[in-house]
Amino acid sequence: MPIRRDDRGRYVEVELGRVEESLWLRCTECGELVFRRKLRETNHICPRCGAYFFLTAQERIASLCDEGSFQPLTVGHSSSDPLGFVDRRPYEERLAEAQSLTGLRDAVMVGRARVSGHPVMLAVMDFRFIGGSMGWVVGEEIATAIEGAAEGKNPFVLVVASGGARVQEGTVSLMQMAKTVAARSLLAEAGIPFIAVLTYPSTGGMLASVASLADVTVAEQGAMIGFAGPRVIEQTTGERLPAGFQTAKFALEHGIVDQVVTREALHDELGRVLGVLTEGGHAE
Ligand SMILES: [Zn+2]
Repeated sequence: MPIRRDDRGRYVEVELGRVEESLWLRCTECGELVFRRKLRETNHICPRCGAYFFLTAQERIASLCDEGSFQPLTVGHSSSDPLGFVDRRPYEERLAEAQSLTGLRDAVMVGRARVSGHPVMLAVMDFRFIGGSMGWVVGEEIATAIEGAAEGKNPFVLVVASGGARVQEGTVSLMQMAKTVAARSLLAEAGIPFIAVLTYPSTGGMLASVASLADVTVAEQGAMIGFAGPRVIEQTTGERLPAGFQTAKFALEHGIVDQVVTREALHDELGRVLGVLTEGGHAE
């Protein structure tokens, strides 16, 4: 499944199935062939034109966290198929394929990490896994991570790459919105900061629930931020949408996010924000 570029053209299109196996990736923005190993050194930014390659959860963790600091929480759930859901293909088949492609149990990785020396509880979503959708496993893992953040008194950082709720789990999926929102209140009660990092895409039920309730909301440049897709909104309202709708810049101008940060600057900026939010404002 290819990743669509947003209307600012900052994310390049990649064939996800091929990403895992090919040594070279073609930047669809400028056509350059880039050596995969080289991309790791450049934070997955095209060395020729500056376009952003899509990041897996593992790559995002490597990009954001201090080297070697990520310690995964072993929650260990795997999705079942509560509805026996079949669309064009059985949900069970989609799950197995996504697990094989990503090496993940579901669409999120959670764990403890450090960012510029600051200890955090981190949850990072992976869009390759059924569009980064939130079913009960994602909801449970995010809620567990939040509980761990509250208990350990570490800031909670959520990196969103999600199209929304997982339709294949129906109402069970929608219930995760309430669960994660309820968990979020633990952070508020404990006075623990919550930072959301919105990337491409941050839409649907994932944005509408816990991601929109952060204390500080940072958007990566090029992120797509919204609820329903532009075409659905235009068809529903019968109105033309303004230029730049759902871009990070648009979200900033309309108060949805607090700042827009380039990928190059994201690690340092997150460290700076954590420093301001945590007591004393300095790293351990
Ligand atoms: Zn390029």
